[in-house]
Amino acid sequence: MQELDVEQRAALDACVVAALALSSSEGDAQGRMRLLMECHGRYVRSFGVFEQAPSYEVFARRLRGSRVSNLLPGRPQESVFGELWLLDEDGMPSSALHRLAVEASEHGHLAPGIGADIRHLHSLLRAVGMLPVGTGLSRISGEAVQHAVFRALRAVGFEAYTLGREAMVRTPVLTRRVLSRNTALVELGAYTGISPTRQFGGLWAACPMCGWTMRATYRPSGVVDVECEDERHSLLGARYRAEATAIGGWCLAPCGELRTVPELLPVEGYVALPYALWLWVTLPGLLEVELRDRLAALGADVRLWPFGDAYDLHVTRAGGSRVWRVDVKTWADPYGLAERLREEPDGHGELCFVVPEHLRGYLPLLRRVVRGSGARVLTDADLVAEVAGA
Ligand SMILES: [Zn+2]
Repeated sequence: MQELDVEQRAALDACVVAALALSSSEGDAQGRMRLLMECHGRYVRSFGVFEQAPSYEVFARRLRGSRVSNLLPGRPQESVFGELWLLDEDGMPSSALHRLAVEASEHGHLAPGIGADIRHLHSLLRAVGMLPVGTGLSRISGEAVQHAVFRALRAVGFEAYTLGREAMVRTPVLTRRVLSRNTALVELGAYTGISPTRQFGGLWAACPMCGWTMRATYRPSGVVDVECEDERHSLLGARYRAEATAIGGWCLAPCGELRTVPELLPVEGYVALPYALWLWVTLPGLLEVELRDRLAALGADVRLWPFGDAYDLHVTRAGGSRVWRVDVKTWADPYGLAERLREEPDGHGELCFVVPEHLRGYLPLLRRVVRGSGARVLTDADLVAEVAGA
């Protein structure tokens, strides 16, 4: 996002909302058409007076199958947007579309489908005093949302905070009945009804890797593609094809290497985290709770999220003679790492930054960032081996 100027951002926002309106069947056709016209109006304005903006027909046609950079004024080729597209040639949404609606759109809350999720997050952030009226999510970083949600949970007490945060990681979907027993989570209001973009025929299915509701996309043939919104999970096999059966039900068939077929569950009676909280709380938390389990199984004493939010895991071994303070980083983010070190000019001496094994290739780069600080960078497998050998 930082690489785009104001006009390009406005154009991107208009394209994202228009692509959502084009690919959704939610709501009435007239409302969707009005939204599309509004988007085109904002799109044209973003081109200013020096560049000719495409007509509505060209705009709507180009949204299918065009790289995002080719849709923006000035066509910024040297950016990540040169590789992303919003809709494929058939008009099916790409995996980037929902993420862009949450992270890069000021008007995403107006869009059919994902809009309901975004509006839910807006009201939650307003309730915790974070989002002034009229501000869009695209002005706010994932870390800031995480921080506000955790602060609100901590206000209920430390134990409730740990339990609530762990529940948001381990169970991003809950039955209404189970949710009602967790007062802290009920008060936080994080969970909401299952998004229309992630259900079909009144049913939903959980990703075998993160447990969250997989996205459902209707193909013109009547088949529904069901896959995790996380591209890595989808690549690893969290993708299925749902077909209507002769007796009026649905069945899932795997499309990837993963043979586990999740159960189809009714939308009724379940609540789920909205997209942004799954993205910013569940996904980064998965490795944290998994590490906790693996290290505890080795006999280490592990505290998850000690001292509020200072770091992620406090690990001790052999009666406290060895201590690891672990900060888990689920993406290779040298900038964030440097930022984190600046926050703690002293005290980070024994801090271990842990990245997932699949990011091992980034270790040399990340180690250069922490050089001289006393902190270390290792993968989860390295840490487990180290604790096991201590
Ligand atoms: Zn997943």
